Amino acid sequence: MRFELRSVTAGYGETVALREASLVVPSGLVVALLGPNGAGKTTLLRVASGLLAPRSGQLLVDDRDVTGFSSAELTQAGLCHVTEGRSVFPSLTVRENLRMFARPGEEREALDRAVDAFPRLGERLSQIAGTMSGGEQQMLALARAYVSRASVVLLDEVSMGLAPIVVDEIFAFLDRLVADGSTSLLLVEQYVTKALAIADHVYMLDRGRIVFCGEPDELDADALASSYLGAS
Ligand code: ATP
Repeated sequence: MRFELRSVTAGYGETVALREASLVVPSGLVVALLGPNGAGKTTLLRVASGLLAPRSGQLLVDDRDVTGFSSAELTQAGLCHVTEGRSVFPSLTVRENLRMFARPGEEREALDRAVDAFPRLGERLSQIAGTMSGGEQQMLALARAYVSRASVVLLDEVSMGLAPIVVDEIFAFLDRLVADGSTSLLLVEQYVTKALAIADHVYMLDRGRIVFCGEPDELDADALASSYLGAS
């Protein structure tokens, strides 16, 4: 599934956080979205997932105009948004969470697929999700994208605050998620080097505008460093 934002402007009250931003997530590819703090990365993902309505511009799924669709409608269309924390049902068990994420009739298979991807979840199927560690909850949230067979997965800083070994597990999982070519990713990630290593395309946002679009090896390392350092 191809996903596109076309000339999207969005914001909060007086604040314009995104200005005529255009971005394409081609079918089966990984797109990294970079930019300094406050550049508008989270805002772009919120617009993409239907959480924030754009002031102008369009959202397109396989060239179908889905502007104005609710989050639920976009999920139905194949999108899955995973944010840092809070992406699971905390009062349900791991098993119940996985069943909720599965497609109807695929509950058993969903459990097997999730446990295969994250063996640690298999040891905790009866545990209340909210009592798991941050890393385990993030694995469960990512398993959702996998077992629901989402076509486009939007990932907002999913490795934030996690131990390096868990971050490695998550990146290994992302490789697996895209391996069969039916899932594409739009990735906002603080581990820029890791994100660039799996990305096919890169976009750079600065103060709400897309200032670079290309392949990872076209990215000027100095410009990247000064963009990040300049804002911190
Ligand atoms: P970071 O890397 O720090 O998470 P970001 O690139 O994700 O930043 P956004 O969170 O999208 O940036 O924020 C873009 C701009 O919109 C910032 O100036 C921010 O202060 C503002 N903003 C974000 N959320 C809100 C809100 N709910 N109300 C008002 N302004 C907001």
